[in-house]
Amino acid sequence: MKNIILIAAPAAGKGTLSEMLVEKYNYAHISTGDLLRDAAKKGDELGNKISEILKKGELVTDEVVFQLLERRLNDEDTKNGYILDGFPRTLSQAKEYDLMVQKMGIDLGIAVVIDTPYETLKKRIVGRVLCKECGSVYNTLTGVNTPKVDGICDKCGGELYKRSDDNEESFENRYKTYEEKTAPIIDYYKEKGNLFFIKGESKEQMLESIEALLHD
Ligand code: AMP
Repeated sequence: MKNIILIAAPAAGKGTLSEMLVEKYNYAHISTGDLLRDAAKKGDELGNKISEILKKGELVTDEVVFQLLERRLNDEDTKNGYILDGFPRTLSQAKEYDLMVQKMGIDLGIAVVIDTPYETLKKRIVGRVLCKECGSVYNTLTGVNTPKVDGICDKCGGELYKRSDDNEESFENRYKTYEEKTAPIIDYYKEKGNLFFIKGESKEQMLESIEALLHD
């Protein structure tokens, strides 16, 4: 399968689209946010530093991100095709990533932008809650996936919690960072000729549009 670079603002639907592609096409899903959160959980010196940056909604240094990513790209499950979720976040990451895939003999694949309105993004983030037990995601503001009982997971009865960076201030910070640093990579891939846009308002719409690109 074609490797996919997903480019989108926070909560634009990268996670949801990735989940569908993993299930249907056996893609490996690589979220640099997840890689960083896992590293932060270790509680060592590096982990604590990462944790502080994540709380503020700022970007982690390229050195750390590339180290975690390179390790992940050596895993066997990425050979069938992978989705990059949350990476590259900056033009400099996009350029360095080009060199990395060349060196590793990996195909760059396609870059896909998910287009989702600002107000929708904000509600998705500020209202997002997750299950401590099974990781299921709900929302208390958008009217989509509202938990039936407040604070309790519909699927397993586990307790629901908020990610520490899912607050309004952090959202605005992350959105500003996205606009300033990530939007230029759209132009970068446009020039390369491997850029495509899809609409992010519904799951079905996203899947249908990306499948058209994959089967092209
Ligand atoms: P995400 O789960 O993609 O929303 O990422 C959560 C946080 O992880 C971001 O707000 C950043 O602090 C950090 N992060 C994720 N991906 C990157 C990246 N490619 N470069 C730098 N920081 C990142």
